[in-house]
Amino acid sequence: MNRTPVVAGNWKMHGSRAANASLVSGVLSGLAPRAERVAEVVLCPPFVYLAELAQRLDQTGVGLGAQDVCAEAGQGAFTGEVAAPMLREVGCTHVIIGHSERRALYAETDELVGRKTLTALAAGLTPIVCVGELLEERDAGRTHEVVGRQLEAVLRALQADPGGLAGLARCILAYEPVWAIGTGRTATPEQAQDVHAFIRGLIQSRDARIGGSVRVLYGGSVKPGNARELFGMPDVDGGLIGGASLKAEDFVAIVAATQ
Ligand code: PEP
Repeated sequence: MNRTPVVAGNWKMHGSRAANASLVSGVLSGLAPRAERVAEVVLCPPFVYLAELAQRLDQTGVGLGAQDVCAEAGQGAFTGEVAAPMLREVGCTHVIIGHSERRALYAETDELVGRKTLTALAAGLTPIVCVGELLEERDAGRTHEVVGRQLEAVLRALQADPGGLAGLARCILAYEPVWAIGTGRTATPEQAQDVHAFIRGLIQSRDARIGGSVRVLYGGSVKPGNARELFGMPDVDGGLIGGASLKAEDFVAIVAATQ
């Protein structure tokens, strides 16, 4: 099955109006012209810069993603939260959900990640749903168990929805081993492939068509020097890029490594 690769840049809590302008212009001038691009490219800045980036990215074919979304669907008394329809209104196409930093620092549970996924889908956003194990979980041989549990929570949320599992076809998944995020320690291509195949197999056991078509990105210290090998694995469909997405040259080189 031919799956269009995706490379998404997670800027985390980095940026300023001036730095963003120069980063976006560096990325846009480094990418192949829109019609020749092989990969889908998405940039995910902090919330406050989304509207400005939407203008900069207009008509460029580059997607715009938020780094989180409120699980509640509508407007209401949720101080500090941002609703999915608001993200759509300002031009977002994607949203990262369940990033390991949200899970670890803000106590996001598997169940909450499932609810956020549904809310994002209902607003027409493409969720980039992150899963991944801690180092001690990998060392204890529990990687599949942990990733399976995180994924099952999302599948349960979808199955409880009238739309059922069909929503999963509109999701992108990201395998991000926590021990590889921002550490400079990357999973080997074989380690990544093992978990990606596990994720795809789990989905295929529920729905063969969706399992075959869903994109599964790898994230965790992807750099220009290791991207091609990782993206060359059969079940790795691109990357979620943190640190290296803050340097236009590196990010563009990582996008080029999908070819
Ligand atoms: C991330 O933020 O999702 C990430 C993978 O970060 P890094 O590429 O810096 O490891």
